[in-house]
Amino acid sequence: MAGKTIVVLGGGIGGIVLANRLREGLAPAHRIIVVERSDTHAFAASFLWLMVGKRKRSDVTRPVRTLLHEGVELIVGEASEVDPAQRLVRAGSDTIAYDILVLASGAEMKIDIPNAETFFTLDGADRLHSALRDFRGGSVAVVIASTPYKCPGAPAEGAKLIRDFLRDRGVTARVDLYTPEPAPMPVAGPQLGEAVKTMLADRGIGYHPLHVFQSAEAGVLRFDQREPVTADLLVTIPRHLPPSVVRTAGVANEAGWATANPRTLATKDPAIFAIGDCAALPLPGRWKADVPLALPKAGVFAHAQALALARRIAAAINGSANPPEFCGDGFCMLEAGEDLAGFAYGDFFATPSPQIHLRNVGRMWHASKVLFEKWWLAPPGVRKNALGVTMRIGGKAMGVPVEL
Ligand SMILES: Cc1cc2nc3c(=O)[nH]c(=O)nc-3n(C[C@H](O)[C@H](O)[C@H](O)COP(=O)(O)OP(=O)(O)OC[C@H]3O[C@@H](n4cnc5c(N)ncnc54)[C@H](O)[C@@H]3O)c2cc1C
Repeated sequence: MAGKTIVVLGGGIGGIVLANRLREGLAPAHRIIVVERSDTHAFAASFLWLMVGKRKRSDVTRPVRTLLHEGVELIVGEASEVDPAQRLVRAGSDTIAYDILVLASGAEMKIDIPNAETFFTLDGADRLHSALRDFRGGSVAVVIASTPYKCPGAPAEGAKLIRDFLRDRGVTARVDLYTPEPAPMPVAGPQLGEAVKTMLADRGIGYHPLHVFQSAEAGVLRFDQREPVTADLLVTIPRHLPPSVVRTAGVANEAGWATANPRTLATKDPAIFAIGDCAALPLPGRWKADVPLALPKAGVFAHAQALALARRIAAAINGSANPPEFCGDGFCMLEAGEDLAGFAYGDFFATPSPQIHLRNVGRMWHASKVLFEKWWLAPPGVRKNALGVTMRIGGKAMGVPVEL
């Protein structure tokens, strides 16, 4: 068979896993090309630790090239356009022809609130660390600017780590979390929401649902139909926007996110697939009859979708039968501060509603998160394989299937 070219648009969590797994599953005659705007990968889950000084920038960043198998081609550049009719991607002076295109371009973030800090970007987390070190006390507001946003557990985790950091510095501070959502992580259901609320309350963090953010000026925060509140330090979960290149591919919904089949990750264009944060994937289950649910944007899903799609694409090219589908399982280690974490695991495709199970907060979950970070940032090779084996054994012992 003539060699195929698979272009992966975005070399983040989903794109890196997909490209590496495809390389393992396809003969060298087939090309795998990753187009990524940045030559440096930053592991976002570690931004929380960067924010509180438990990591340095160099601990959480790696050249993208080092995370990819040798046989994966990398083009560093901004993809400006997909031409689905000609099956081309344009990136700077490069025009790349594809047989299969996978959109893995994540979500863009718009940080447009004056004087707001954030731990949602590498630079932001670094800067926020300085702001927290210099903070003399008062009120800290963590504000979710809008939905959807990636990693639904991160705002609560961030609030807890900020509170611990300031307490350990001996600074008197009140931390509050404001969100437009009715409860924490609403897609995971009321039991998980209550557990997160309890975690926050136990640490003295105020939780304020149904607060639709409008503006912030001179330390005064305004929410739709709510009394204004004041804050000495504003930390925002920025507005998330679909990457503009997705719209050019002709597979976006009205909001600009890629529309794909939640199980096969196929779009309406037979040559284009979408994984990770850039995709909007509806869930079959609901908690309330009139409130549809979408799969949360999270690295764990981008990773699992990449694994499933790599097998599907390899099976199609190699002519093998029964390729797996993305099954909707996902987990979340929720940092609780003090080297502790909670753990939630379940089936997001379950009906009548997602089935998410919660385990007690413990050191083991925090240690698992650290282990995953080390595995992720290791280049392909012996060390990465050894870390992977350790995680699989640990997962078995804890009754959690680990697929990497
Ligand atoms: C603070 C924080 C903590 C988090 N913690 C967790 C966690 O504990 N667990 C978890 O599951 N998830 C977590 N997440 C979420 C997780 O990081 C994302 O959901 C995940 O990275 C999504 O993967 P992705 O491949 O879809 O997108 P990304 O990893 O964002 O990758 C997209 C890539 O596409 C590139 N790109 C975009 N447009 C273009 C273009 N036009 N041309 C070229 N390149 C382009 C980008 O540069 C980027 O590298 C966290 C996120 C944050 C911010």
